[in-house]
Amino acid sequence: MDYLTEIEKIKAQINNASLMAVSKTRSIEEILSVYDCGVYIFGENTVQEIKKKFLNRPSSLELHMIGHLQSNKVRDAVLLTDMIESVDSYRLLCLINQEAEKIEKIMPVLLEINTSSELSKYGFSSENMDIIEDVILKSKLLKNIEIEGFMTVGSINREDSEKCFSKLFKIKEYFSNRYSSMNLSKLSMGMSNDYLTAVKCGSTQVRIGTLIFGERHYD
Ligand SMILES: *Cc1c(COP(=O)(O)O)cnc(C)c1O
Repeated sequence: MDYLTEIEKIKAQINNASLMAVSKTRSIEEILSVYDCGVYIFGENTVQEIKKKFLNRPSSLELHMIGHLQSNKVRDAVLLTDMIESVDSYRLLCLINQEAEKIEKIMPVLLEINTSSELSKYGFSSENMDIIEDVILKSKLLKNIEIEGFMTVGSINREDSEKCFSKLFKIKEYFSNRYSSMNLSKLSMGMSNDYLTAVKCGSTQVRIGTLIFGERHYD
């Protein structure tokens, strides 16, 4: 399969944002082919798949956890990934810090924000800035994590996605100005169907699965 054409096309459209290939359900062979086309960040939704596919990976391949993380999987996620983008509770943040401390790692994380108010989505509600602020403040005491910014999943509807992405951009601006000693500059937003909108709204990393690999088949 020719991945290069699509990858080059996407890269040309996303300015300085980075491109993550979302590789859930894809085989190791598919992943390595995409890596060979010059994509170095991969995203997975479950620790189970990460253990199956990424134990022996090229050292310049960066792996991010982007799915909801259960407490009993935190240890492996901390050990095996380079960033956890799906931090959706303070409790989870503390667990990540604890596991990272055990292996003397500073774990980069993003706070996942639910910007669409859709109940099926994870993340801190964008409607409650006090809670997000509280987490950011308390995180200063957690020595083995580093919050680098925010992540969101848009809406099924493209127009609603634009609202979600602008909301996340404003949240990032607000907190990075308020806490300028931290570096809260990353904005992970935009998928196959809405990445152009996300880039327009200030995304620094798009997460693309289908457009690179083709339709997903769960079996
Ligand atoms: C699956 C997934 C993506 C990629 O979705 P596509 O529509 O295939 O591009 C991005 N982000 C998250 C959190 C995902 O679960």
